Amino acid sequence: MTDVFKIIFVIGFISGAVLRRVCLRRAHAGYKEEITYVRKSALDLTLLGLTGVSMQIIPIIYLCTNWFDFADYPLDMATPLTYAGWLGAPVFACAIWLLWRSHVDLGRNWSPLLRIRKEHTLAVNGVYSRIRHPMYAAHWLWVLAQLLLLQNWIAGPAMLITFLPVYLLRTPHEEQMMIETFGDEYKEYMKRTGRIIPRFSS
Ligand code: SAH
Repeated sequence: MTDVFKIIFVIGFISGAVLRRVCLRRAHAGYKEEITYVRKSALDLTLLGLTGVSMQIIPIIYLCTNWFDFADYPLDMATPLTYAGWLGAPVFACAIWLLWRSHVDLGRNWSPLLRIRKEHTLAVNGVYSRIRHPMYAAHWLWVLAQLLLLQNWIAGPAMLITFLPVYLLRTPHEEQMMIETFGDEYKEYMKRTGRIIPRFSS
């Protein structure tokens, strides 16, 4: 059964990789534009790099070699692991959908680093209408899908370990940067949205 889960993971993984490649290419074109603020901390860059390793390199090693086989989840938990694996498929589908929608709704304002363009606009529609960080929410869903689909103590939780500090360190800085740029407009926006869990109350 774990082979089926690996195949599901590969389908999601490739979809996410293609999406990210297209968006990065578009963002690189945007780098020629005037930037009014950029935050490049060594810690942020290191953690981002490690997240790249944990969500791409480690799964590839796990899927293509037998190096991590000693750390597979125990087979005597076969039934719960099978349920968990099947749950991983819709979770991964939601992650890819949310990643795609957040890139579309953020448009040219997206960048892997924290930065503000001269023509920056505040995205408040689409998936940004209920949550302020849908892209990070998509990464949390990816973390969960990886845990459920890659049934191994190294490959499964790898992204959880590296993305948690990225999220905890980045989000407050990003919100501070947005407040400095958009002032009351962003403060009002914060009141009607959740960070990664949608807020539906008015
Ligand atoms: N935290 C957001 C965006 C991640 S991309 C999310 O999870 O969806 C990071 C860049 O997005 C930052 O450099 C910032 O300039 C920009 N950004 C974040 N929220 C924004 C918003 N509501 N409108 C416009 N740009 C935003």
